[in-house]
Amino acid sequence: MPTPNPDPNPNPDPDSPWLLPVTDLKQWDYCPRVVYYTHVMPGLRPITFKMEMGERAHEREARRERRRSKSRYGLPEAERVEDVQLQSERLGLSARIDLVLRQGNEAWPVDYKHSRRITIAQHYKLQLVAYGLILEDQWKVRSPAGFLVSIPHRRAERIPFTKHLRNKVMAVVQAIRTMIETEAIPPPTSKRGRCVNCEFRRFCNDIF
Ligand code: SF4
Repeated sequence: MPTPNPDPNPNPDPDSPWLLPVTDLKQWDYCPRVVYYTHVMPGLRPITFKMEMGERAHEREARRERRRSKSRYGLPEAERVEDVQLQSERLGLSARIDLVLRQGNEAWPVDYKHSRRITIAQHYKLQLVAYGLILEDQWKVRSPAGFLVSIPHRRAERIPFTKHLRNKVMAVVQAIRTMIETEAIPPPTSKRGRCVNCEFRRFCNDIF
């Protein structure tokens, strides 16, 4: 099921639609149509009770996790900066980051996932790397890696921000921009199991 978009929309200029919330990158990797419905046909998305409860549970868990030790990240000297809200016009992205660990001229974003899967899906990595790019752009630091914390497993995994992942983020941003500009509906996800609990299911008439 696509996740609700927790990022703020800090874009003050309604004529400039290019500050995409970073969560769009995760949604795009999950299913591009979710991003299409969100931006090209706004107002469609029903916010269900279950989604609201899920979002509140995420915030509660993230708050608890933030209080836990920094030693799990191997950065005991790092300063913790919580609930960081940033936007970058150069990258065309806005973000709300649960936690950033800062040490000297380097910054590591931390994000949380509820999934019980051991392997980390690419959409989680793209979001994290986008946070790193915004931190580099706005804080003028280096962001060599970030951490994905599995809440069910109480484990943090270090994700290096490789050139490949950085390029992938920028390619996805460009693809989303083109999609919004042309209003062309993208193909559905090839993983049709994702459609079962999707709140946009009734709009995807071509695949059901
Ligand atoms: S129903 Fe399937 S194809 Fe349509 S938006 Fe949802 S996940 Fe994507």
